[in-house]
Amino acid sequence: MGFEISEKVQKINAQLEAFMQKHIYPREHDMAEWCLDPGNLWQTPPWFDELRELAKAEGLWNLFLPHEYQPWSPGLTNVEIAPLFETMSRVVWAQPVFNCNAPDRGNIEVLAKYGTAQQQEQWLEPLLAGEIRSAYAMTEPQVASSDATNMELEIKRDGDEYVLNGRKWWTTGAVNPRCKVMLVMGKSNPENPRHSQHSTILVPRDAPGITLVRPLRAFDNLHSPGGEAELLFENVRVPVSNMIKGEGCGFEIAQGRLGPGRFQYAMTLVGNAQRCLELMCARADERVAFGEKLKKKTSVQHEIARCRCDIEQARLLTMQAAHVMDSEGVEAAKPYISMVKIVAPNMAQQVADRAMQVFGGMGVCQDTLIPEVFTHARICRIADGPDEVHMSQLAKLTMRELAS
Ligand SMILES: Cc1cc2nc3c(=O)[nH]c(=O)nc-3n(C[C@H](O)[C@H](O)[C@H](O)COP(=O)(O)OP(=O)(O)OC[C@H]3O[C@@H](n4cnc5c(N)ncnc54)[C@H](O)[C@@H]3O)c2cc1C
Repeated sequence: MGFEISEKVQKINAQLEAFMQKHIYPREHDMAEWCLDPGNLWQTPPWFDELRELAKAEGLWNLFLPHEYQPWSPGLTNVEIAPLFETMSRVVWAQPVFNCNAPDRGNIEVLAKYGTAQQQEQWLEPLLAGEIRSAYAMTEPQVASSDATNMELEIKRDGDEYVLNGRKWWTTGAVNPRCKVMLVMGKSNPENPRHSQHSTILVPRDAPGITLVRPLRAFDNLHSPGGEAELLFENVRVPVSNMIKGEGCGFEIAQGRLGPGRFQYAMTLVGNAQRCLELMCARADERVAFGEKLKKKTSVQHEIARCRCDIEQARLLTMQAAHVMDSEGVEAAKPYISMVKIVAPNMAQQVADRAMQVFGGMGVCQDTLIPEVFTHARICRIADGPDEVHMSQLAKLTMRELAS
């Protein structure tokens, strides 16, 4: 199967690459420097907003939203979106410059798919314009959240309002002051069958009754400016019009949110890993140890070869997931979506690990993106569902296909 990239997409990709060369690579390490200064906690640098304006003016904006979401989508298919994601993921903080970052991506898709006209006007439009940010709050500390049906946060109707009580954690982006809305999943209909007990509801981030318990550290990193929040909900009231799709649809929304999202996640990791490989090769070509360049050492050659194979396999698998999604729909693409969720983070973790080894001490410090790719890939083996859950899901789908 060949994946022909249309002339239109080649042009956008060339434009994206030029933007990266001109505006992103020269600033690559400025973001880390900014975030390391405690005075800048939860803030973005002024130049970052300038880059967003430039990207928007050039039409390099919201590229992630597939064509079925016209008029909001720039009109690309999933196969066309994939290479663009690889390009913009060559620097770890670049996606938000193009308004293509998680969790806004998934939240925008939910609102475009299920939102009422009022919800779309109030939240979708400002998200697409990049004026606000959002968060998705499903995971809870007290239950195994890899099983979405375990969620306990209570959503109780009271007249023309819903009242929310419970606790969430790992809510990405919710510490950032620009986060204005959260999609919160909770239990609204405990009397229903297990997969229709939950709902997803829109909650303004500043609603009375929400307490930021603490920002969490992942590998000792606060992930400023977005952050990952632990949140307490105490009698938080929102109007009934904030319910998305309807009571009992929370599980369906949680699943649906992750179709295109997962291949975009995977292509992000391909872009991250490809950059690590390129840096690793450049280092091997320049560094001399024991009288010869590292590239002359068989062990380094083998690691480079392994990385190339692993990245190319993940890239092609991700393109295949995107292709099946385009040609046969998300349902048919389910096995491929599970495959890329399993393969891509493991691949990127391995590639970053090998690159780190070739770089020696420099490979673990802030001078390259390698440590960030390593930790991000490791986190991705847990976030959005741990590896094991996707493997069990894939096994079931495979057994079902073979039995039919
Ligand atoms: C940096 C980061 C960002 C995150 N962002 C968000 C966010 O924005 N919003 C949000 O809602 N959540 C977010 N999460 C939470 C993430 O989605 C959950 O951590 C994940 O779903 C796992 O849930 P859990 O932590 O409760 O682990 P548990 O469900 O307790 O699982 C623990 C372990 O049990 C094993 N296990 C579980 N199920 C199975 C199975 N079926 N078979 C075999 N073994 C199994 C796995 O090894 C798993 O890692 C984020 C997490 C991190 C680390």
